[in-house]
Amino acid sequence: MQWETVIGLEVHVQLATRSKIFSGASTAFGAEPNTQACAVDLGLPGVLPVLNEQAVAMAVQFGLAVHADIAEVSVFDRKNYFYPDLPKGYQTSQMYHPIVGPGEVEITLEDGSTKRIRIHHAHLEEDAGKSLHEDFHGMTGIDLNRAGTPLLEIVSEPDMRSAKEAAAYLKAIHSIVTYLGISDGNMAEGSMRCDVNVSVRPKGQEAFGTRAEIKNVNSFRFVERAIAFEVERQIELIEDGGSVVQETRLFDPDRDETRSMRTKEEANDYRYFPCPDLLPVVLDQAYLDHLRGQLPELPADKRERFQNELGLSAYDANVISASRDMAEFFEAVHSECGDAKQAANWVQGELSGALNRESLSIANSPISARQLGELISRVLDDTINGKAAKEVFQALWNGQGESADEVIEAKGLKQVTDTGAIEAMIDQVIADSPAQVAQYRDSEPEKRGKMIGYFVGQVMKASRGTANPQQVNGLLKEKLDALL
Ligand code: ADP
Ligand code: MG
Repeated sequence: MQWETVIGLEVHVQLATRSKIFSGASTAFGAEPNTQACAVDLGLPGVLPVLNEQAVAMAVQFGLAVHADIAEVSVFDRKNYFYPDLPKGYQTSQMYHPIVGPGEVEITLEDGSTKRIRIHHAHLEEDAGKSLHEDFHGMTGIDLNRAGTPLLEIVSEPDMRSAKEAAAYLKAIHSIVTYLGISDGNMAEGSMRCDVNVSVRPKGQEAFGTRAEIKNVNSFRFVERAIAFEVERQIELIEDGGSVVQETRLFDPDRDETRSMRTKEEANDYRYFPCPDLLPVVLDQAYLDHLRGQLPELPADKRERFQNELGLSAYDANVISASRDMAEFFEAVHSECGDAKQAANWVQGELSGALNRESLSIANSPISARQLGELISRVLDDTINGKAAKEVFQALWNGQGESADEVIEAKGLKQVTDTGAIEAMIDQVIADSPAQVAQYRDSEPEKRGKMIGYFVGQVMKASRGTANPQQVNGLLKEKLDALL
């Protein structure tokens, strides 16, 4: 039996407002427990929530970015349940009239192909506090700093068909919210968390299978691993004559498995009702137009432009447009050197490698886009060869010089293209290597091409890496063949 996987994601994005969604308390990460929870966040009697306009603007910007219908009127509802980290006894959310209606996101797969994933809706809500189990013996600590932090919950249609598609979707959402600047997208700090709904069905069957919902998965990698495990579990269960029950499960990254948390029968009845303390949110066309006017160029548009106007491959365009900082750095390098392909290679290769090694973000790159662009220009106009370029890069990275030209000058890396000078070096190497010359002469003609590498290496060394490698190759072959 062939099985098909069906996946739908609910992504919680923490919005980058400075204060909470219904109070003036700070949302800054990492403060001492309970120093950023005010009377409103604690739900003390008599307090009233006031909606943070910034959170509304951010939700609308997201909606516009995914071509969604924005609700003219949206309403906050109370979702009632008891939990120690929810002192009010209810979470303020949007159940029946969410602010963002149906939309869609384009995802790009590893082979460069694209697919549209529909968004069912996105709604605003507040986060709960945190229960702390470590450091407390026989007790649970409660930190309410996070209570009231604004979240945008983005609910997809069940349009994904593999773990890879789900990860690509999550990356697309991550790109969009960070491009918009409405979230820092920091998954390790919990700024983006996702509930993964997974089911399987026999290939060709139209009706969906029963789904399990895996709660709070907080990395791209874990999303893929949780789905892989869950798909296998469900297929095995059905093939053994059992059936999947609709339930909530937890992913355990240490054991690489999902475990049941609660089944549908125990599911809560949240008794949603409109929050009487908050007015409906009414948005007019002028407000939407104003926000639309502030939208930056979005990842999908950049990707398309990089491909169609700059001639980058689908793969390169996708990698570079995924992060706004990287895209802007690349564009600055390109405008300096004028060669998009070279700019993309250097940004994804040498630069990304060096940044990764030192755990730096591209915004904190020690080498500027302008410096890198000038360096590439010197390769393009043949001032230096590829090997010297790497040396110049390293020097600029280490702060040994202001510009590529300065480093080239100081280190004497200017490429030697003077035929006479190269010939002199070749003659010297040939004179110093009688054994290798004899070996070259005695080998079969088709093996000589490979043997020439030794001589090239020696000449390059003699020139301290500055000889033009193509010239060295050509002249060497002539001179060696003349000895045959
Ligand atoms: P609920 O509100 O009970 O969580 P929804 O119908 O709103 O349920 O769906 C929540 C998420 O589950 C959505 O992202 C949706 O795409 C996904 N989903 C719904 N049915 C399935 C299914 N059979 N298989 C996989 N995902 C599903
Ligand atoms: Mg759900």
